[in-house]
Amino acid sequence: MWKLLRLNSGLRVFRILGVDVCVHWSWLLALPLCVPFRNQIAQTTPWIVADATALFVLVLLHEFGHALACKSVGGTARRIVLWPLGGLAFVTPPQRPWAVSWCMAAGPLVNLAIVPLTLAAFYLGQSFEVSHDLMAFIEFVVIVNLLLLAFNLLPFYPLDGGQILRGLLWLAFGRVPSLLVASAIGLFVGVVVLVLAAAFWNFWLFVTALFGAMQACTGMLQAWRLRRILSGPRRPGFVCPNCRREPPVGDHWRCEKCAHRLDAFVDRFACPKCADPNRTIPCIDCGMKAPPEEWPALPPLPPVPVFMGAAAQIKGRE
Ligand SMILES: [Zn+2]
Ligand SMILES: [Zn+2]
Ligand SMILES: [Zn+2]
Repeated sequence: MWKLLRLNSGLRVFRILGVDVCVHWSWLLALPLCVPFRNQIAQTTPWIVADATALFVLVLLHEFGHALACKSVGGTARRIVLWPLGGLAFVTPPQRPWAVSWCMAAGPLVNLAIVPLTLAAFYLGQSFEVSHDLMAFIEFVVIVNLLLLAFNLLPFYPLDGGQILRGLLWLAFGRVPSLLVASAIGLFVGVVVLVLAAAFWNFWLFVTALFGAMQACTGMLQAWRLRRILSGPRRPGFVCPNCRREPPVGDHWRCEKCAHRLDAFVDRFACPKCADPNRTIPCIDCGMKAPPEEWPALPPLPPVPVFMGAAAQIKGRE
């Protein structure tokens, strides 16, 4: 059951720029709920389809903003999942405040860039007196894009605005306190909205607030866990090829195949449960992934003399 609810799954529709675009099964549940709402806006089927397509494209462009920004700073972005509350980009930016903030800001920035285009279409439509249906469609696109922009910029974790706020707090207070504070604010606001949505019987607001509050809870738990791991003992002998820090001791990694918890440096080459090899090991400190052989088990470097070939080899490992 829990597997069905996992949002990082979904039917892959297509793949573009190295990112899988998937549709979650819950779309099927949401579509019948959306049709009466759409009927109020546009009367005929082709325009309902046009509205739905525009919504799909706008959400997709927003999520691609996150995904491409994440890749631009060296992070990974493999999947975008569309579900009834919009889209989710599964991105892992390097754990640095500016990298995280840029990755989160890029989604709303896409909507901001689209604003002048939609307004130009609106004024052109008005001056050329296009059909009533086309004008209603353009208005729909203008409004939905502005709503996406405004909603995502609300400074409440896990919304983009809340994650940008977290990045700014990170600069001032550090990685763990920033996550704790931003997700605590998100949880508080989420619970308030949840109560209001229940009081006013607003189904979609209730679902959105429930999801937000759950994500904020996860953020707080992550912050506690991260604090414990980062302040714990380190394993000497290995260093991250990116940030050069020694990895923490403990089963802080998960097998990519069976999700079994493991210590990537004790079980360096295979998962103890399913024997799947560790193809990449993510750094707990900076979030960058590297294959096991790039995490050098550094012996103390021999003192010089070294000849050219060895010098090049040693240099390559630094
Ligand atoms: Zn976003
Ligand atoms: Zn690192
Ligand atoms: Zn495994």
